[in-house]
Amino acid sequence: MKKILPLLIFFCFSTIIAQQKIDLTYYLPQDISYNTNIPTPESVIGFQVGDWHVSHDKLVEYMKVLAKFSDRITIENRGKTYEGRPLLLLTITSPKNHQNIESIRTEHLKLSDANISSSLNTNEMPLVIYQGYSIHGNEPSGANAGLLVAYYLAAAESDYINELLDNTVILFDPSYNPDGLNRFASWVNTHKNQNITSDNNDREYSEAWPKGRTNHYWFDMNRDWLVSQLPESQVRIKSYHQWKPNILTDHHEMGLNASFFFQPGIPSRTHPLTPKLNQELTAKIGEYHAKAFDKIGSLYFSEERYDDFYYGKGSTFPDINGGIGILFEQASARGHAQQSDNGILTFPFAIRNHFTAALSTLKAGKNMRTDLLEYQRNFYKNAQKEITRDKNKAIIFGDATNKTKTFHFAEMLKRQKIKFYKNGNNENSYIIPLNQPNYRMIKGMFEKRTTFKDSLFYDVSAWTLPLAFNINYSYTSKISNLGSEVTNLSFPNGTVSAKSDYAYLFEWDEYYTPRALYSILKKGLRAKVAMQPFSLNEKNYDYGTIMIPAQNQQLSAAEIYNLIKSIADETGVNINAANTGLTEGIDLGSSNFKVVTKPKIAMLVGDGITSYDAGEIWHLLDTRYQIPITKLDTKNLSKADLSRYTTIIIPNTSGSTLNNSKENLKTFVKNGGVLIGYRNSLKWLNTNKFINLDFKKAKAKTKNVAFDQRQDFKGAQVIGGAIFEAELDRTHPIAFGYNKNKIALFRNTTVFIKPDSVETYKSAIQYTKNPLLSGYISKENLKVLSKTIPFKTAKLGKGKVIVFTDNTNFRAFWYGTNKLMMNAIFFGKMM
Ligand SMILES: [Zn+2]
Repeated sequence: MKKILPLLIFFCFSTIIAQQKIDLTYYLPQDISYNTNIPTPESVIGFQVGDWHVSHDKLVEYMKVLAKFSDRITIENRGKTYEGRPLLLLTITSPKNHQNIESIRTEHLKLSDANISSSLNTNEMPLVIYQGYSIHGNEPSGANAGLLVAYYLAAAESDYINELLDNTVILFDPSYNPDGLNRFASWVNTHKNQNITSDNNDREYSEAWPKGRTNHYWFDMNRDWLVSQLPESQVRIKSYHQWKPNILTDHHEMGLNASFFFQPGIPSRTHPLTPKLNQELTAKIGEYHAKAFDKIGSLYFSEERYDDFYYGKGSTFPDINGGIGILFEQASARGHAQQSDNGILTFPFAIRNHFTAALSTLKAGKNMRTDLLEYQRNFYKNAQKEITRDKNKAIIFGDATNKTKTFHFAEMLKRQKIKFYKNGNNENSYIIPLNQPNYRMIKGMFEKRTTFKDSLFYDVSAWTLPLAFNINYSYTSKISNLGSEVTNLSFPNGTVSAKSDYAYLFEWDEYYTPRALYSILKKGLRAKVAMQPFSLNEKNYDYGTIMIPAQNQQLSAAEIYNLIKSIADETGVNINAANTGLTEGIDLGSSNFKVVTKPKIAMLVGDGITSYDAGEIWHLLDTRYQIPITKLDTKNLSKADLSRYTTIIIPNTSGSTLNNSKENLKTFVKNGGVLIGYRNSLKWLNTNKFINLDFKKAKAKTKNVAFDQRQDFKGAQVIGGAIFEAELDRTHPIAFGYNKNKIALFRNTTVFIKPDSVETYKSAIQYTKNPLLSGYISKENLKVLSKTIPFKTAKLGKGKVIVFTDNTNFRAFWYGTNKLMMNAIFFGKMM
């Protein structure tokens, strides 16, 4: 590393540089020496950083080698992704700190407990910095820069690095999204030319569906930090709370023609629960980035485009936890080199920018150490003061008829270190006292917010979690009945009341009833659903109760009992034995029990389909309900034999890739199939006469909008994601399993359907008159949304077309509306 190439040649962009052999001197500071005992990335992964896109296995290999050779680094494997890749974390600090790492950690955690933090001497405490890379897998310059950052931290020799490592503990997360990183690396490496082509028509720069941005089930993992439904997030959140870092960085890429962005973002779009000082410190850290970028001659910007509003994002999540989250966005070559507005953008150039930002973060952390530690201490102290001013003292949550959903909600709180207690002896009911360190995060999870400083949002404007889960909750100003703290949560297994030779019954309200029903149908057993309520043995059974006769089945009564027992156990569904068919209300042999058949489901995927929406459905059916689905590519749809399926789901799409398959899809429905369409597919289904929909359109009042305000004006009419109230007709099969007349729906489209003008039938689901529960919507849109319908069905031949204007499966945490889709799948023919 002693050889110093003239830096100048790297400042000039030309086609030559795209071909230029890059070596480590391009990336690393050259005014220091590097320990030659530490293997360079190239010596392990077999190529210079930036020559190829690192695959995740090679990244892992290098991290393990570094941990082996450096006494500054320890490594742990915290779990695995859906595709089985390890989720590594390196702890990097001075060898001396490593010897006391556990006591450093426990002392550091005391800063976030206002009751004990006063006595701590922050002068003597290291700062904790979490550095994580490429949560969007096709934004890989972060993870590739990570190779260099880790090498630098292991091998650099100088007074500065010693001081840095003495004064910081660096939690180093080399890849936030291993599956996505690997998917993208395969794509670009597969298409790489020896003579690099910066022409963006090259296939290298036109990644196939589904892109590497997302994880295995096509989730944007940078929306999952608060709700943490995915395994990658869960291990990360665990590390987060084990340490409560002072700074957390999140390295991304953006469009080709941009430069480099670092936070702070747009000031008016910071979440109101985030203290002002957070943004001031972010800006102060930003000065370090600016200085470092000035030095290497890279363009950058801040306080534009991005925001700090949704706590589900990596750079915003720390802001409600006493830390500073920082988003970095680098213009993306999305491959090895691309022609851009700023000349040829090479992959190594993008890597070097991320490397630079990682180092300037560490420098800022070292120099601002006590400020940031004090900030953290005061964050929790001030939160405690806010608690005393809060008229509410606790939140009670839980749902007696939905113990598994309550369990998943409680699990989520537990992951975020929120304490809760049993509510006396009430089953499935818990109390969250507000007087606890994470008071602000509790507020951030439960609050309903309908007024905003700004009308533009980078992401959703609302995520009120008990509404998303559709569980009961209430605030209370007096804590009574506080039981023991819940420290051990376990899945609430279901029960079977007794063995029966006649029939079994279970209600449809528990979250996992679709899984239970599918398990039964899969065994070839007959099952029916009750279209009316009834009661038996002094128990009331609601609409949608499932009945499994014990006689004339493929299995013996004894085998059925064993099967039912294991299903109850794994789904949490309580199943009752019935020894008579005579009930109050419809008897078990009544024709008001309708046959339910095993669904055979295909979902459209591929070009034209929104991969997020498709991934959410795939994940729901595959991982939660254990129901197999065929992912049917739109490119094969016109010729596919659709008679194999009972149900086809069209996730959000404009329909542009479906035009050639129109006839095949129509034949499928006419022959008796159920077609379920979501969001914008409704327009295509309407145009192509699958269903007749009457759309409403909002018109924003335009008045002299200035040129530079046009974007904001348009943006204000977008529904980025908010929560609305609708009324349910509980007698309709779409509402089976819901035991209240109102439901909260998530909406991020402006597709509005008028209810039928002839009011013969009540609408099965209809937005209330003033439907806004939480989040931002323009006045014009709200007016139009009022009393429209988010759901409609129509007969077509022997089949059914069922449409939803809203996403019922949003980001794996909208548990509350999953059943709407499941009802369409199981009971669609009855609607
Ligand atoms: Zn990104």
